[in-house]
Amino acid sequence: MKITSIEPFILHVPVNVPSISDSTHTITHWGVVGVKIGTDNGLFGYGYTGTHAHLETDRLVTACIDKSYGPLLMGEDAQDGDRLWQKLARYPAIQWVGRAGVTHIALSAIDIALWDLRAKAANLPLWKLLGGATSEKLEAYNTDIGWLSVPKDKLIDGCKRAIEVDGFQRLKIKVGHANPMVDIERFEAVRKAVGPNVTIAIDANGKWDLPTAQRFCARAEPLDVFWLEEPMWYDDIASHATLAQSTSIPIALGEQVYTAETFNSFMDAKAVQYVQPDVTRVAGITEYIQVAHSAHARRLPVVAHVGDMGQVHVHLSYWHPGTTMLEYIPWIKDCFVEPIKVEGGHYVRPELPGAGTTLTESAIASFSQRC
Ligand SMILES: [Mg+2]
Repeated sequence: MKITSIEPFILHVPVNVPSISDSTHTITHWGVVGVKIGTDNGLFGYGYTGTHAHLETDRLVTACIDKSYGPLLMGEDAQDGDRLWQKLARYPAIQWVGRAGVTHIALSAIDIALWDLRAKAANLPLWKLLGGATSEKLEAYNTDIGWLSVPKDKLIDGCKRAIEVDGFQRLKIKVGHANPMVDIERFEAVRKAVGPNVTIAIDANGKWDLPTAQRFCARAEPLDVFWLEEPMWYDDIASHATLAQSTSIPIALGEQVYTAETFNSFMDAKAVQYVQPDVTRVAGITEYIQVAHSAHARRLPVVAHVGDMGQVHVHLSYWHPGTTMLEYIPWIKDCFVEPIKVEGGHYVRPELPGAGTTLTESAIASFSQRC
């Protein structure tokens, strides 16, 4: 299965309302930035990372795919998984300028496309190629109702609808106001509306410092918070370790952690309890597997962050024994030949060969930007 073509792409897909915000980010579109890799057996693999649809930055990613990694890939055998990943990830001139960030997420898109090709060549969905499903059902938790930009009354309506109409039993709502007591008030209102049996996680998107996070946790502890995600700056292992040891609320993080080694450092420091790798931000499926196994060996749950909006992670989550649930944000699902689907609060298991990343012609026609 020799690689014969490498075509980068950029899609900017509108989110389902005019704009959404958390404590740190405001976006109107999700960037689907990646590559279509062709082979001499006629198969095409698709892989992508997820971005905030900032076109000039997206072009850095596609330039890296095309100009830096492309020549290293042409003519190679797409079946050579680990050898190809090592060749690209450890290429001296590329790792010199980035073992995280642009070069890393570009490699993520390539690695996902290669796994998509391998699964298609085997005529299997990715979860089956990896070894089969370890659970019959995969619970979905709904993040899309809980943005910080949603006013309190609409937040409550959305949470009730997600449970009563859509069948979710798990929610996540954003926090991270300068005054964390505003977040306490919103959480209490949601808890009162949905009752005691629904799990509610919260996500501060790196906003607070340690004293603010500690003040919040002291007040939130009696409220049954399922996890507190990214309370502080993404790289600050010491502060997360201190917080984790001073509160009974479990700490979740990982969406801004790029490497298996950094995940190990957080886990070794006991700074995280729910491990949240993102296949589009570590260097693809190859590195995701390392992170997930490493967490599982420490008996920590693995709950992916969906930079891919679930298309690849639904495969990884059905397969991996450390995973029992997956985030749900449905913004880009209709761009794919086999869109993610949640019924009664559970992900439907994908069945088509591949990694779930094949774009439809109409998505390409509607949302493409010039690379
Ligand atoms: Mg998050």
